Amino acid sequence: MPELILTFHGIGTPADSIGDEEKNYWATADVFQKIIAEAAEFTARTGFGVLVTFDDGNKSDIAIGAPTLLQYGVPGFFFPCSGRVSDPAYLSQSDIRSLSESGFGIGSHGIDHVKWPSLTPQQLDYELSQSRLEIGEACGVEIVDAALPFGFYDSKVLRALGSKGYKTIYSSDPGLSRASDRFRRRYSYRSDRGIDIPSLIRKFEAPFFRGKSRVKHVLKSWR
Ligand SMILES: [Zn+2]
Repeated sequence: MPELILTFHGIGTPADSIGDEEKNYWATADVFQKIIAEAAEFTARTGFGVLVTFDDGNKSDIAIGAPTLLQYGVPGFFFPCSGRVSDPAYLSQSDIRSLSESGFGIGSHGIDHVKWPSLTPQQLDYELSQSRLEIGEACGVEIVDAALPFGFYDSKVLRALGSKGYKTIYSSDPGLSRASDRFRRRYSYRSDRGIDIPSLIRKFEAPFFRGKSRVKHVLKSWR
């Protein structure tokens, strides 16, 4: 059975350092809690899984995100950037460890949030292997999942991820995913459009949507 994977970037009030464009990806604590309560209720009623992922490793992941998921029993996956662990606005090494110990999944979002397709092969190798190493050391668990910064990828990025030991790739291409999918689709929260779980699933299950997104993925993977 497929599942719906949602992406959040930050919860609550963004720090001043966060740009205006990125602020649109932040959810207020109230809105976030409402979506998580709806996800728990939806899964209990239909058996349809909803996984909640967090990119960028903002401090609100551990201050608001994780406690809310635990409260409602909704599964979560966190993708911090290894180059930000000493910045107080982001998850520290011990935050990453405690998220992992609480039963959440941890993956890599790279070192410092750059566009992976724009890197040279050497830079990309370093970005993927160094972040995997450092985040793995922080949580004490081998890292085999990556979330694509800005959702950008091409054939070179997909190949490099495979050769650096990543087994699962979390994209920003919308749609549903199965646990067996190496390339997983996600839907990102944005404050200007919100999230309605049943209508997203109806949209993503429609044959026309699935056909169109398959074609887009093939085109991006061949670039
Ligand atoms: Zn990101």
